[in-house]
Amino acid sequence: MESFIDEGKIQGLLKGVKASRDRGIEVREIIQKSLSKQRLDLSEVAALLNTEDPELIAEIFAGAKKLKELVYGNRIVLFAPLYIGNDCVNDCQYCAFRVSNKEARRRTLSDAELKKEIETLESKGHKRLILVYGEHPKYDADFIAKTVKITYATKKDRGEIRRVNINAPPLDVEGFKTVKEAGIGTYQIFQETYHQETYKKYHPRGKKADYLWRLYGLDRAQEAGIDDVGIGALFGLYDWKFEVMGLVSHAIHLEERWNVGPHTISFPRVQPAQGVKIDPKYLVSDEEFKRLVAILRLAVPYTGMILTARENPQIRKEVIDLGCSQIDAGSRTELGGYTDSQADQESDRQQFKLGDTRSLDEVMRGLLEDGYIPSFCTSCYRLGRTGEHFMEFAIPGFIHEYCTPNALLTLKEYLEDYSLPETKKAGNKAIQGVLDKMKNPKVKQIVIDKLARIEKGERDLYC
Ligand code: SF4
Ligand code: SF4
Repeated sequence: MESFIDEGKIQGLLKGVKASRDRGIEVREIIQKSLSKQRLDLSEVAALLNTEDPELIAEIFAGAKKLKELVYGNRIVLFAPLYIGNDCVNDCQYCAFRVSNKEARRRTLSDAELKKEIETLESKGHKRLILVYGEHPKYDADFIAKTVKITYATKKDRGEIRRVNINAPPLDVEGFKTVKEAGIGTYQIFQETYHQETYKKYHPRGKKADYLWRLYGLDRAQEAGIDDVGIGALFGLYDWKFEVMGLVSHAIHLEERWNVGPHTISFPRVQPAQGVKIDPKYLVSDEEFKRLVAILRLAVPYTGMILTARENPQIRKEVIDLGCSQIDAGSRTELGGYTDSQADQESDRQQFKLGDTRSLDEVMRGLLEDGYIPSFCTSCYRLGRTGEHFMEFAIPGFIHEYCTPNALLTLKEYLEDYSLPETKKAGNKAIQGVLDKMKNPKVKQIVIDKLARIEKGERDLYC
C-alpha cells in the first residue's frame, strides 16, 4: 500500500508557488472560490500558504472570518475530553504517556470511576464528550464499545451525554464495526505529522511506528460504515505549511474515495509535557498559527474545525473568529481529572499542559460576551444527518433552520439547569437578540414554542 500523501508534489508546490503583492489577484480569486464554498486544490492552498504580504494575509483572515459566518453562523459547539486510560505501548516523543516515560502514573478508569467522571461532567452541563484512549491491547474494540455504552447509559439528574466521539488508535475493519455498533459519533485519528521521516523520528516503536497503518485508519473506519471521521496534525513537529498540505491531501483522499470529506479537522500545537524535549525548529508561532487556521478554513469550507484548550484564552479568542466551529471547555487531561481536584497539580498524570483552564461556565460566558452562541447541539447525528447525507444538508439556509435554533435550545437548557446567574443573564439576552433577528417567522415560532417548553421543564428538544 502506498501513501496518498505525495511529499514530492507538496514540496514542489510549496517551493514553486510564490504569492506576492503582484499575485494579489490570484490570492483574491482563491479566497473568492472558497467563499463560493468550493474546496480548494493543493496548488491554491500552497499559494495561500506562501502569501507573506501583510495586506494579503489580512485579506485571508477576513475571507476566513466571512466564510465561517456564512457556513457556521455564530454558534460554537462545546465538548469535553474524557481520558479513559493512559497505558500505552507507543513511544511518541512528544507525549507524557509514552511507554519510555517511567515517571508517568498509569491508570485505566474502572467502570465505577468512569461513571463518576461522566456524572461530574454532566453536572457541569456537558452533553458531548470525546473519549480518549492510549494504545494498548487492553483497550481493544470491545473495551472501547463498553466504555461508550456506559457513557450513554450514565445519567445524573437532568444530565445525559448525547454524543460520544472517540479519539483512539486505528482499529481493523472488524474493530471499527464493533465500535460503530456502540453508537459512536465521530472517530478521530490524528496522523500527528504527515512527513514520513519526521513521523519515524517521533514514533520510534510500538504499533504507531507504522505510518501507513495509521494513515489508512479512517479508510478502514469508512469501510466499517463509520462515515463521520476526524483528522488532525500536531503542529510543531515539522514545517507547518507541509502539515496543512498534508491535512488537505487527506481530506481530498477521503472525498475522492468515500465521497465524503472529514467531519472535523484538529490542529493542536505541541505543548510542554512531562520529560518532553522537542526540537524547537518547527514550533509554530502565534501568528503562523492564526494563518494556518485561516487557510484551513478556506481550504475545506464544509469541514468542522476544532480548537482545543491547549491554547490559552487569548489565542482561542482570536482564532475562533478565523474559522473554528468546536472547542472543548472545562477540560482535564489527567486520568480521573474531573472528580479529583488535586489532579490538575500533578504533572505525572497529565498528557500535556493545558493553556485554557477556565470552567465550562466561564468559557460559556466569555463566548456570549464575544457575540457567539455556545451550543451543545447533537441533532444531526441523532436524526441521521451524518457523512454523505450531512453534506447534502450543508447548504445555505441550513444554519438558520437547524444550527441556530438548536444552539438556542441547548443553550437554554444549560442556562436553566447549570449556569451561574450572570451567565444566565447574558445567555437569555443573547437568545432574545438572535430571536429578534430571525427572518423566517415559521422557524422563529417553532423556537419560541420550544424555548417555552424548556422553561417549563421539558428537555432534549431539537430541530
Ligand atoms: Fe500513546 Fe497517544 Fe501518547 Fe502516543 S500520543 S504515547 S499513542 S497516548
Ligand atoms: Fe451540528 Fe447539525 Fe447541530 Fe448544526 S444542526 S450544530 S450541523 S449537529
